[in-house]
Amino acid sequence: MGTAPGAGIAAGMHPEFSKWLDAEAPGDGAPDHSTRETPPMPPRAVLIDFFGTLARATASVGLDEILARHGYTLPDHLHEVWWSGDLDGVEHAEQSRSREHYLAWQRERLLAMLHEADVHPGEHDRILADLQAGRAERVLEAYDEVPGALAALRDRGVLLVVCSNWDWDLEPAIEETGLLDLLDVLVSSAWAGARKPHPEIYRYTLDKAGLAPDEVLFVGDTWGPDVAGPLAAGMTPAYLERPGHWPDATRPADISGVPVARIRDLAGVVRLVESD
Ligand SMILES: [Mg+2]
Repeated sequence: MGTAPGAGIAAGMHPEFSKWLDAEAPGDGAPDHSTRETPPMPPRAVLIDFFGTLARATASVGLDEILARHGYTLPDHLHEVWWSGDLDGVEHAEQSRSREHYLAWQRERLLAMLHEADVHPGEHDRILADLQAGRAERVLEAYDEVPGALAALRDRGVLLVVCSNWDWDLEPAIEETGLLDLLDVLVSSAWAGARKPHPEIYRYTLDKAGLAPDEVLFVGDTWGPDVAGPLAAGMTPAYLERPGHWPDATRPADISGVPVARIRDLAGVVRLVESD
């Protein structure tokens, strides 16, 4: 992504935050509790990633499975292109003019990928239809501790803002998880015209929520979008490492030098911000 982890850490970070960075780094088998000094002032807002942080898919029909039904296997490099490896960090303002423009862009990307995967053009429409049907089968569910953690943060007066690399329909996706009423501001990359860790989506989110970077704790499960990007934008990150979570391809091998709080579930955020 070209964003050096830790870049921008000094500039703009609220001085009180630096005390509790890395306070909860989970070692092997370490108990999930914080030993940090209590910060005298909580952040004004927590910016939160959606998928893998607030919720996960408990049922889904993936592109791989659909292609397999049609007798195709997606090559690894295209897998990476589709599953955001090459997509994250891009700016797409033109495609974000409307839902219609965005859906057209998604369709174009998908067709280009099928073409590159040597899928016979006669199969394209049927595969697109299967993907559409597969989307209807997807089930999104909040992680168990999330509703309680969000309610606890709200009780402490913290503004709760979602900042997600997602498609145009982020709001119905969050509604499906039952979390909509627990969140104050939503931002999807599809509306912002840029995907994390591009700086534009952070700027857009801060503007929409009326926040300055040094008022924010950013929480998420993917290093590039949720730690490196927010750090470069002057925000304080917390890296969510859920036990048994899928691997994070964007996480550097050695993160020991990066000043970041590490938590194992969203209740860890409550412990980070609580002031009593
Ligand atoms: Mg995520």
